[in-house]
Amino acid sequence: MLERLQKILSQAGIASRREAERIITDGRVAVNGQVVTELGTKADAEKDRITVDGRPIRVEANKLYVLLYKPVGYMTTMKDPEGRPIVTDLLKGIKERVYPVGRLDYNTEGLLLLTNDGALANRLAHPSHEVDKGYLVRVRGKVTPAQLKHLAVGVDLEDGRTAPAVVSLVRESEQNCWISITIHEGRYRQVRRMCEAVGLTVVRLKRSRYGFLEIGELKPGEYRLLTPAEVERLQ
Ligand code: URA
Repeated sequence: MLERLQKILSQAGIASRREAERIITDGRVAVNGQVVTELGTKADAEKDRITVDGRPIRVEANKLYVLLYKPVGYMTTMKDPEGRPIVTDLLKGIKERVYPVGRLDYNTEGLLLLTNDGALANRLAHPSHEVDKGYLVRVRGKVTPAQLKHLAVGVDLEDGRTAPAVVSLVRESEQNCWISITIHEGRYRQVRRMCEAVGLTVVRLKRSRYGFLEIGELKPGEYRLLTPAEVERLQ
């Protein structure tokens, strides 16, 4: 099927449509060995050999959406130079090459969405999309109402003040407290840095929600495919 090159590039997860246009006009894209800079150009993702900076792109015909309970001790990159396990090692029954939407730290567990639908992944990961992400955080010792309020109102981090968050105390004991924090930003190690900034020590961090998707009954390392209705809702 003939489609505009910028659409093919965004579906392959190379870039957003807008960025794909730039990649094309910069002369970084070739179709069957011929550099293309014209934005209206169409190609067939299955039949033509399309390259960006000389590397062929892959467009998967069969779109797959996977909800994984990422365990602690897995990287959300596609390769780790230090040889640590990566999340796709857990997807034993899946032959398509899916990749994570956004990141979770090596030591963070919980809900991770993976897909080969590059256009959707780019859209969801873009800051303007503001997907709500719900985290459960176990912190050492007691939490004060002032700390909860500080987290909710916004915390001054090196990269600026965080947007207001929805914060509540879920459970407390002498040794530990569980708090729930929902944010829509997705800065590097944001929840850990927010907690540290208000004087809390994080001992466990779990993402329980991504938009309307919940981790539910999944156990660490388990995954399920999204239902067609969930995929529709994500678009
Ligand atoms: N915030 C963090 O600090 N780490 C994550 O993995 C996700 C959110």
